[in-house]
Amino acid sequence: KRGDDRVAVYDARMERDRTEKLALLADLRTTLQEHPERIAVYFQPQIDLASRSVCSAEALVRWHHPTLGVVSPDRFIPLAETAGLIDQFTPLILDAALHECRAWAESGRDIGVAVNLSARNVGDPRLPQQVAAALRRAGVPSSSLTIEITESSVIADPAQTLSVLARLAAQGVRISLDDFGTGYSSLSYLQRLPVQEVKIDRSFVFGLAQQEDARNSRALISAITSLCRSLDLHVVAEGAELAEMLDELRVLGCDVAQGYVIARPLSAPDFARWLDESAF
Ligand code: C2E
Ligand code: CA
Ligand code: CA
Repeated sequence: KRGDDRVAVYDARMERDRTEKLALLADLRTTLQEHPERIAVYFQPQIDLASRSVCSAEALVRWHHPTLGVVSPDRFIPLAETAGLIDQFTPLILDAALHECRAWAESGRDIGVAVNLSARNVGDPRLPQQVAAALRRAGVPSSSLTIEITESSVIADPAQTLSVLARLAAQGVRISLDDFGTGYSSLSYLQRLPVQEVKIDRSFVFGLAQQEDARNSRALISAITSLCRSLDLHVVAEGAELAEMLDELRVLGCDVAQGYVIARPLSAPDFARWLDESAF
């Protein structure tokens, strides 16, 4: 009936999915306007594998929904992006992350903070200004901040993104390429983007614990780390769930590890307590 050679399949599940998403989006709008305190930033430590000490923390956003409980960012960040709401999240998350980073520094700890940015953020020419202002407000040196981006954030508008990232890098902010190894053109991005760090996707790290995948995972991880070593890039492995992985990841050439075996993402006060109590 549409007049072209297309067939559309109707599936009740699609409709239900759409309705759910719309309801969640409406809730998200209300939360941002009326209860921004329900959007919380959690922190997951990253340890330096040589010294076994905490060197950084990744800021991971959580939404405390009144009826659904904690909503995962995988569910609401993509929604916020398509609805154009992500701009409202960014200052919130940056400020919260830098505020904690400042507090760690005041308690005598040199711990950097990594913030995830989405495609819309890194395509926005106002971002370097916003980041500089947030750093000033918090009193945190730019070298303590890492911006995590993924390949998909670059694909939307490569030229624009490259110029935004170059300006951030010129300010002294570190850039990290997240989920490395899962995309289609990672290697060309290593050449073109001003990155200082690569995060090996957790699927490779999970593979170390799987008998049938371990050999391939080891080979892939060590290939990535030797490539990164020759390019002078720092390597972070995420998704370390087992104690024996920490040694293995170090032997394979990773500099830093992050994962449940060290700690889960923690609220800011829990993170501060964890810093005092943990062996790292
Ligand atoms: P990501 O950037 O790859 O973040 C790592 C995810 O792995 C986090 O999920 C973290 O909780 C989880 N993780 C860490 N260690 C382990 C482990 O040992 N085992 C397992 N199974 N998982 C582990 P989370 O917090 O649910 O975040 C999901 C994704 O949402 C993130 O993936 C990131 O892409 C996005 N995200 C989170 N916070 C933000 C944010 O503030 N802004 C934007 N734009 N995206 C965010
Ligand atoms: Ca990340
Ligand atoms: Ca990742």
